[in-house]
Amino acid sequence: MKKIIIAIDGFSSCGKSTMAKDLAKEIGYTYIDSGAMYRAVALYCMRHHLLPDGRIDEENLRAALPAIHISFVFNPETGKPDTYLNGVNVEKEIRGMEVANLVSPVAALGFVRKTLVEKQQEMGKAKGIVMDGRDIGTVVFPAAELKIFVTASPEVRAKRRMDELIAKGEPASYEEALENIVKRDYIDSNREESPLRQAEDALVLDNSSMSIAEQKAWLLAQYDNVVKA
Ligand code: C5P
Repeated sequence: MKKIIIAIDGFSSCGKSTMAKDLAKEIGYTYIDSGAMYRAVALYCMRHHLLPDGRIDEENLRAALPAIHISFVFNPETGKPDTYLNGVNVEKEIRGMEVANLVSPVAALGFVRKTLVEKQQEMGKAKGIVMDGRDIGTVVFPAAELKIFVTASPEVRAKRRMDELIAKGEPASYEEALENIVKRDYIDSNREESPLRQAEDALVLDNSSMSIAEQKAWLLAQYDNVVKA
């Protein structure tokens, strides 16, 4: 069977990662969560004092970028890859609210995007990859054979995000989750560098009222259409 690249883009907390991870497992592809890479850079900024007065110290971040190594290691317990920053598992830390509040401004920096996009393209060289993010079908892999653009109402997404945090035993508030989602959508859609937008040839999925099983079946059918065409 021919190997393809599958690009899944969309708004924050709309279940892209769950869909992408499930599909990759089902069809034996590698799953890459590009958002985790931006989150790891945000965490690096927090840990290396690159946020004086709440600003991002761009000069020192630019100088530090070659020393920021991000990798993924499959975790059989969760069934998905954990994110490593310079050899240390940071999967838990990058999912917290502090990183969520910082990641979009970090991801809006052109030099950060350039570096991470190059890494992502390298990861997709051999195809057989499912990558999710904001610019995968438009910038990272404009020639991807299958492009999906996922969306859902902000309220549904905030509820899902809150449930996810509660399930992990972390403090969560609906208002805070909604505020973070609306803010990130705005920054991601309005930044100058590779703003979040639907690729012209992407298939749109509004999953506001779909179950995970329904989304999984829908996505698998789209994959079958492409590889069996
Ligand atoms: O997908 P996730 O919500 O984990 O992504 C975190 C943030 O990283 C997004 O809100 C966005 O600012 C940024 N991002 C991006 N481009 C990508 C993936 C994520 O700008 N390809």
